[in-house]
Amino acid sequence: MNIDELVRPNIRAMKAYSSARDEFSGAAQVMLDANENSLGSAGPAQFNRYPDPQQRAVKQRLAGLKGVRPGQIFLGNGSDEAIDLLVRLTCRPGQDSILLLPPTYGMYEVAANLNDVAIERLPLTADFQLAAETGAAIVASDARLVFLCSPNNPTGNLLAPEAIEAVLRGFGGLVVVDEAYADFAAAPSWTTRLDEFPNLVVLQTFSKAWGLAGLRLGMAFASEDIIQYLNKIKPPYNISEATQQHALSALGAAPHFGQLRAALLAGRAGLAAELPALPIVEHVFPSDANFLLVRFRPDATAIYDYLLGRGIVVRNRTTQPGCAGCLRLTVGSPAENELLLRALREFA
Ligand code: PMP
Repeated sequence: MNIDELVRPNIRAMKAYSSARDEFSGAAQVMLDANENSLGSAGPAQFNRYPDPQQRAVKQRLAGLKGVRPGQIFLGNGSDEAIDLLVRLTCRPGQDSILLLPPTYGMYEVAANLNDVAIERLPLTADFQLAAETGAAIVASDARLVFLCSPNNPTGNLLAPEAIEAVLRGFGGLVVVDEAYADFAAAPSWTTRLDEFPNLVVLQTFSKAWGLAGLRLGMAFASEDIIQYLNKIKPPYNISEATQQHALSALGAAPHFGQLRAALLAGRAGLAAELPALPIVEHVFPSDANFLLVRFRPDATAIYDYLLGRGIVVRNRTTQPGCAGCLRLTVGSPAENELLLRALREFA
């Protein structure tokens, strides 16, 4: 597959912005090329210099951790930035379309709407998988890109790997596998298959298992060709120096990451074991993420409002396709999980 053909012609033709730090990336005694403030910074920390536009140190570290080459990594201001850039990279406004499989993460639709890109919707099955006809419809579509969210938000399940593989083999556009929740899943990441599929893009994030949602750092993994195009169209300094420094120290704290992840998985198992015993719970959907989609009876929105009254905010997903009666419960700290369970037990 020729990736160039999936890129908008104006993006292929344009010249990328060349920043001061692109043109000179070494260290010099006197740095007077970027209109920075050589006197220092207002505030407690020194951020008077622009950050590395290519985030080389973070990518080097991440490449080792993820088993990919640094050139296969794009970093964004959250994976939301990568979602927007992928739509903009491939779809001509007013002409092209993307494929979505509802119920799924809401930002894909927003990115399409923002960029005047049409949306083709192919719903997931009642257990939130791709039906065989859906896989065939994706392959037959001339959309430029399909978002496959696995584990899926808001449903929590992994999409069957055979179904994803069939899409990767047959679809003519980019296949974006959004693995924001992959750190909680008992399945290998699709990053392990990057060299097999030139049209594969895998999204991950520091916002979930790493516990760094406030930092805004997301990752896209793909062939060097795709990553170069994303770099071409990103804002020059899209990852701040503060974020790069913090990410480097977080990446050095792998044992803490492992502990956070294990504690969340234990919390998820505890909730999944307790919730089905409650009379108001109709179904707890299996989860490979840090949340549980739960179908309540008789009235999920009344339960949502009741929880709010008890100071507990969950996500009301009752209006999402296939999610009637469902609330999405994020796995919290042990104390939060206990408060949630107690409140649900006391619902009358
Ligand atoms: N993808 C999915 C499936 C998500 O649920 C989220 C956040 N809720 C994101 C991407 C965006 O994450 P971030 O921008 O924080 O990296």
